[in-house]
Amino acid sequence: MQLNRNFLRLKNSYLFSAVAERTAAYRKAHPERRLIRLSIGDVTRPLAPAVVAAMKRAADEMGRSETFRGYAPSGTRMGYPSLLGTIVESYARKGVALGEEDVFISDGAKSDCGNLSDLFSADNTVLIPDPVYPAYLDTNVMAGRRIVFADGTEENGFLPMPKRDVRADLIYLCSPNNPTGAAYTREELKVWVDYALENDAVILYDAAYEFFIGEEAFARSIYQVEGAKQCAIELCSYSKTAGFTGVRCGYTVVPRELVREGVSLNRLWERRQAAKFNGVSYVTQMGAAAVFTEEGERQIGEAIAYYRENAALISDVLARLGIPFTGGKNSPYIWMKCPQGMDSWTFFDYLLNNANVVGTPGSGFGRNGEGYFRLTAFGTHEDTAEAMQRIAKLLEA
Ligand code: PLP
Repeated sequence: MQLNRNFLRLKNSYLFSAVAERTAAYRKAHPERRLIRLSIGDVTRPLAPAVVAAMKRAADEMGRSETFRGYAPSGTRMGYPSLLGTIVESYARKGVALGEEDVFISDGAKSDCGNLSDLFSADNTVLIPDPVYPAYLDTNVMAGRRIVFADGTEENGFLPMPKRDVRADLIYLCSPNNPTGAAYTREELKVWVDYALENDAVILYDAAYEFFIGEEAFARSIYQVEGAKQCAIELCSYSKTAGFTGVRCGYTVVPRELVREGVSLNRLWERRQAAKFNGVSYVTQMGAAAVFTEEGERQIGEAIAYYRENAALISDVLARLGIPFTGGKNSPYIWMKCPQGMDSWTFFDYLLNNANVVGTPGSGFGRNGEGYFRLTAFGTHEDTAEAMQRIAKLLEA
C-alpha cells in the first residue's frame, strides 16, 4: 500500500480556521464588544419564495407513489429536462446558443473544479491565477500536476493576461474573481481564448459570480467570446446566484464542439459522471428550475441588488479614504490594499482590535495577496454601514 503522496505536499488550509480562531479569542477576551464580520463568504439572504414553493411541490410529489422519483433520468446527464431547459434559455438570453446535451447538472461548482481534472493527464501543466479561490491549486496538487501561476497584481488590476512564453495545457480562470472582485471584459477574455486555441489548451472557466455582472462590456459567460466553445468548459453555480450554498446545485457546460486528440470532452465527461456521480436530488433540481423563471429571476435579483448596495457602500467609503481597491462593482468582493504598508495579518489584527471588524487576509489566497485584504458584501445593510463607519473613523484618525 502506498499513499497518494501528493496530499503531503498540500499546504494547510489555515486561512479560515485562523480567522475563526483569532476572532473567537478576541470575543472571549472582550465579550462586551460587538464584532462585525465583513469576512462572510457565504450568502445570508434566504431562498427566493418561488424556489421554496417549487421545492415544497417537489417534496409532495416524492411522497406520493404516482409521482415518486428515484434516480435521475438516464440519458439526460442526470438533469431533469425542466431544469436543463431553463439553463439553456438563460444562456440564450446572454446571446449564447447551447443544447441541453452541453449541460451537466452538478452539486455545485466546487466539486467539478477538481473533478474535471480527471479528464486530463497528470503530465499536463496547469496555469492558475494568483490570487484566486484555493480549490484549483489544492485539487491539482493532489493530482500531482505541474503548476504555473499567472500573477494578479496592482499593475494589471489583478487581471493577469497570457504570456506567450508560458506553455500551459489547462488554464483556470475565475471571473468575477474570488477574492479580488476583478472581472474580465469580453475583449480580455478573447485574448485568453485565442491563447488557449493556439496552444491546444483547455480553459476551466469559473463563472460562480457571473450574476453580479451588471455591465455589458464584461462577460457573463466565456461563450460570449468567439471560439470559446472550442476551448472552454464553464462552471456555474446556484450558490451565490440564488442562495443555494446549503441546498447544493450547479451546472457545468462541456460544449460538444470541444474536442482534443480527436475525442469529444462532452462524451468523456458524460462517461466519467456515469461512473462516479449519481446526480442531484429531484427536490433540489426543481428548486433550481424555479431560479431562471421570470418570477424567480425577479426575486433573486432583489437579493443580488441588496448585496450590490453593500458593495457600493464599501467601495464609496474606500474611495473617499483614498484606499486603492478592486471589485465591488461587478462582484460581491472588495479587495483593498492594506493601509500604511501593513501586511495582511497585521491589518487583520489592527482592524479586529481597533474597529472590531473582521475581514479576510489576502495572503491566504496566494503569494500576490500579501498586503491586501478581502471585504465582502454578503452581510446585512446595517452591519455593513456600521463596519464601514468604524473603518473610516479608524483610518481617518
Ligand atoms: N468557485 C468560486 C470562485 C467560489 O468562490 C466558490 C465558493 O465560494 C465556489 C466556486 C464554490 O461554489 P459551490 O457552492 O457551487 O460549490
